[in-house]
Amino acid sequence: MTSSFNPVFAKQGTTIFTVMSALANEHKAINLGQGFPDVDGPESIRSAAAKALMEGPNQYAPMPGMPQLRQALSAHARHYYGLDYDWATETLVTSGATEALTAAIMALAGSGDEVVLIEPSYDCYRPIAEAVGATVRSVKLQPPHWRLTEEALAAAVTPRTRVIVINTPLNPIGRVFDAGEMAVLAKVVAASNANVVSDEVYEHLTYDGQKHISLASLPGMRGRVARVGSAGKIFSLTGWKVGWVTGPAELVSVITKAHQFLTFTTSPALQLGVAHGLAHEMEFPRLLAARLQENRDAVAAGLREIGFEILPCEGSYFLTAGIAGLTNEKDRAFCERLAKEAGVALIPLSVFFSPGGPDTYVRFALCKSRTLLDEALARLKAHFR
Ligand code: PMP
Ligand code: GLN
Repeated sequence: MTSSFNPVFAKQGTTIFTVMSALANEHKAINLGQGFPDVDGPESIRSAAAKALMEGPNQYAPMPGMPQLRQALSAHARHYYGLDYDWATETLVTSGATEALTAAIMALAGSGDEVVLIEPSYDCYRPIAEAVGATVRSVKLQPPHWRLTEEALAAAVTPRTRVIVINTPLNPIGRVFDAGEMAVLAKVVAASNANVVSDEVYEHLTYDGQKHISLASLPGMRGRVARVGSAGKIFSLTGWKVGWVTGPAELVSVITKAHQFLTFTTSPALQLGVAHGLAHEMEFPRLLAARLQENRDAVAAGLREIGFEILPCEGSYFLTAGIAGLTNEKDRAFCERLAKEAGVALIPLSVFFSPGGPDTYVRFALCKSRTLLDEALARLKAHFR
């Protein structure tokens, strides 16, 4: 019977985030798997949304988004990246970055096209590219430095490549592509027929003074890049699922056509809350990044003592570590056992790779209170003693 279903979805398991969160609940494990903060974002944003819920509007928002939020998105891109996007034709509000990514990939690639992914890659890119009938070609970054090289990227791009999906700061490895890597991307994109879907949901969460570079801000790139963002990550409101696309009118217009048939619109009250946040609460992500950097240092020190190999971590919610010094198990078996026996749930890195990727690394979520992280470290220490 399942043979009559779309094989892309029929053959899928449940996402690792749901699997590990369920395992954490079942075994009362501390959940450092699925990336969600344990403290909600600014009260003024929640109040603005609550006010809008009570006073309206509560009917369908305009299909491309509330003007207040779209104007704030345009101002945000100008302020942080010097990118000028006309709010009325070059911004789109979506139901989370997930919907933005789906709409963008659906709109920019089709049957017979090629989509290039940089692995490890966030889990939703591949199934959507395959569901639209595109063939995925992947560039596998190599541990421990995970650097993007021109040779590897150029080898994956062909005349049939229509979309290159990039993600910086990169979930799961916490890489932030530097100026050299961004220049390589710009060079390869300029020589290709491809547009770029640029997943920048962790744009404000970088460490050690390293700046997030938006590919669209490089010479010649503005017209080729659809930038994807998420209020969930900027304001620690992951349950809200308010995301967006900013980009040249030509790309945003076709992505909007996909959006109109996916979700059509997003809660107006939440959009107004996020518009308030972009105008008044940008200190919040700056302080969050500083707190995450402290968490990174504390968790890295604790894990190093236990025997984990700590990999560089420049941004995002996540720290990755090698387990080869601790076990002969593969990452997934290790994570499943740790949730049950040590009471700490993690994410195995192999799920972010196509077959043949590394399978001895795990991901720790840093977006948690220090008390919880310290308790998780204590449990791991006791387990490996
Ligand atoms: N892209 C990346 C890299 C992510 O980590 C996430 C987080 N969940 C998303 C997209 C999806 O964001 P949202 O929750 O806004 O759909
Ligand atoms: N982006 C989050 C993570 O990587 C999870 C989002 C989800 O559960 N789909 O942990």
